Amino acid sequence: MRIAIISRNKNLYSTRRLIEAGEAKGHEMHVLDPLRCYMNINAKEPEIHMRGKELPQFDAVIPRIGASITFYGTAVLRQFEMMGTYPLNESVAISRSRDKLRSLQLLSRKGIGLPVTGFASKPNDIPDLIDMVGGAPLVIKLLEGTQGIGVVLAETRKAAESVIEAFMGLNAHFMVQEYIKEAGGADLRCFVIGDKVIAAMKRQAKPGEFRSNLHRGGSATLVKLSPAERSTAVKAAKTMGLNVAGVDLLRSNHGPLVMEVNSSPGLEGIETATDKDVAAQIISFIEKTAQFHKTRTKGRG
Ligand code: ADP
Ligand code: MG
Repeated sequence: MRIAIISRNKNLYSTRRLIEAGEAKGHEMHVLDPLRCYMNINAKEPEIHMRGKELPQFDAVIPRIGASITFYGTAVLRQFEMMGTYPLNESVAISRSRDKLRSLQLLSRKGIGLPVTGFASKPNDIPDLIDMVGGAPLVIKLLEGTQGIGVVLAETRKAAESVIEAFMGLNAHFMVQEYIKEAGGADLRCFVIGDKVIAAMKRQAKPGEFRSNLHRGGSATLVKLSPAERSTAVKAAKTMGLNVAGVDLLRSNHGPLVMEVNSSPGLEGIETATDKDVAAQIISFIEKTAQFHKTRTKGRG
């Protein structure tokens, strides 16, 4: 097959591993920087060009679209979809998962366990917002944050009010969330492909920290999931419409709670912690499922 990886940088670990795994299975792998692609959306035959030339037809495309280029990256992916190329994750599903509020609303509609979450922009009754999620301690998150930046644990009601006021002053969107203390500074990253969790790791925050992000000094180890954790992760990915997803769970004393669903989960942490060839499993999944003009949405919905 001829497979395109939409990625800004061919030297990133995940991109490199996907090229390796694809080539090892005899596929022709191309890395395309989405920002370099330009497109014709008027003609009957949609086209994608790069460096003055039309791109050849691809059998499958693997989107690795960073959060900062979601808008243009998903437009490029949509163009591939219109041309009949099979997308590992569809553009619509990626856009859905990038909107944290929309994601939580979709997940709750399917009855998936979530931390009690309130969201607000300029709440005129902060004490009531705090009560909605059960009072302090609580977690306040900037919607635009990643890698743990913009996630604050407010131990007291006073602290929570101050942080909320500060975020409001910055005109930022934010959410307030019940603090899952019993998670003990750990979360579970479940790597879902199709209808299976193919690898999972536990990320533990460093001492004195509640955020388990590896970028915040957390450490990752192999973990065995319970059946409920597996089925929650698979259901969350399915709800978002993602074939491949990194589903982050918190272990609460009332079962697994979904924190977020990532549509371009990184391979380095999970492959290192679990010693599994995740890249090869992604390529195998594409071999099994890719068909021309199989995209369900082609950007609709
Ligand atoms: P980001 O998108 O920046 O990674 P997250 O929502 O994943 O933000 O939060 C970062 C980390 O903070 C999580 O991995 C988890 O360890 C911790 N955390 C987030 N929300 C909660 C919560 N409600 N209860 C307990 N810990 C949490
Ligand atoms: Mg996170």
